[in-house]
Amino acid sequence: MSESARSPDVIIIGGGIQGCSTAVHLGLKGVSALVIEKNYPGRHASGVNAGGVNRIGRFPSELPLSALSLEIWHDIESLVDDDCGFVPNGRVKIAESDAEMEKLRARFHLVRNLGHDYERLLDRHELRELEPDVAEHCVGGIVAPGCGHANPFRTTTAFARKARALGQTILEGVRVEKVSRAAGVWTVRTDSGNFQAPVLVNTAGAWGDRISAQMGEEVPMETIAPMLMVTARMPPVIRGVMGATDRILSIKQVPNGTVIIGGGYRGTADRDAETTVLDYKKLAYNAKIATEMFPKLKGARIVRSWAGIEGRMADAIPVISPSMTEESCFHAFGFSAHGFNLGPAVGRVLSELINAGQTNIPLEAFRIDRFAKA
Ligand SMILES: Cc1cc2nc3c(=O)[nH]c(=O)nc-3n(C[C@H](O)[C@H](O)[C@H](O)COP(=O)(O)OP(=O)(O)OC[C@H]3O[C@@H](n4cnc5c(N)ncnc54)[C@H](O)[C@@H]3O)c2cc1C
Repeated sequence: MSESARSPDVIIIGGGIQGCSTAVHLGLKGVSALVIEKNYPGRHASGVNAGGVNRIGRFPSELPLSALSLEIWHDIESLVDDDCGFVPNGRVKIAESDAEMEKLRARFHLVRNLGHDYERLLDRHELRELEPDVAEHCVGGIVAPGCGHANPFRTTTAFARKARALGQTILEGVRVEKVSRAAGVWTVRTDSGNFQAPVLVNTAGAWGDRISAQMGEEVPMETIAPMLMVTARMPPVIRGVMGATDRILSIKQVPNGTVIIGGGYRGTADRDAETTVLDYKKLAYNAKIATEMFPKLKGARIVRSWAGIEGRMADAIPVISPSMTEESCFHAFGFSAHGFNLGPAVGRVLSELINAGQTNIPLEAFRIDRFAKA
């Protein structure tokens, strides 16, 4: 490794989508970065998630960031030289009762009043035009036409590849142990020696709170293990990315014909051992909901199920923030099970903060000191 790569402009801890995206956007601005990853890019949540690129259900504070991200997704190939398997086939939230339809209507008006007009309400007939195989009892829904899904591992590796093509360094299999700052320089101690840079970025995912704690910034973050399962290839059953309103379900059929079923049922995670344990009862219940909403799935064969390790903040939105205790340090972690779709924009925003000291995207809601204030 060259001496300049050992002392870059920026050190990034964590090579998931947030870290690799930050390295790409910094590289485009001519700022050198060293990404230090204890495993390999995409080993954790960024490579094993459901690939949903979704704005429906985002908290109002996340709407500007998710709007920017969706804009980048629609031109992702020009950013990372790979289309990342992005399919903008629309995201639908289905109402199974009139009461659920009322909730969707309220959400629709809330989002409209905030100035965003990307959602459209669907009546019973319009829902069936989009999704002919939806169950008879479903009464309508809401659709975000530009949303969709992408291939998570392919996306994260595409960002890593592009970062390297721009001259950035990604160290794999190297674990950050301690960070400290003296005389305006960060020293990052790892199990493979020390690295130094004037700027530090913490994109350590479900381990991000451990890095921030070293700066005296303790945050309430829980380690969770969202689960997914996938069927064998099937004839077309589902056209877009579907979700339920009051039950836990997210479901999509990807181009190879397999159906990915999830939505948020959790197993258990051990983040020190970097392992997860599945809860098959919950998976079975998740599959039951899927067959109730799409009866053609009855008899589908589940060929694989898995879980990933994710950090969930107490208020379910990420930390995207300058450090409040140390200069020249930025955090972006705890994406609370919806950070994949935000990744392309998070890297851009962090690169703007580092390079220009500001961004047009409002980040107040994501400040790291919000919990202390509360
Ligand atoms: C099953 C599942 C389904 C999901 N579905 C969706 C979805 O459909 N849509 C969506 O938007 N989001 C989804 N998510 C959430 C999404 O995957 C995450 O929010 C996102 O990938 C987080 O990216 P990250 O870069 O912050 O974290 P990660 O991908 O976890 O990357 C952090 C990296 O930091 C490294 N690291 C940590 N500590 C250190 C250290 N000390 N030294 C060196 N390296 C370190 C880790 O090894 C890891 O690779 C899902 C998550 C899961 C688990």
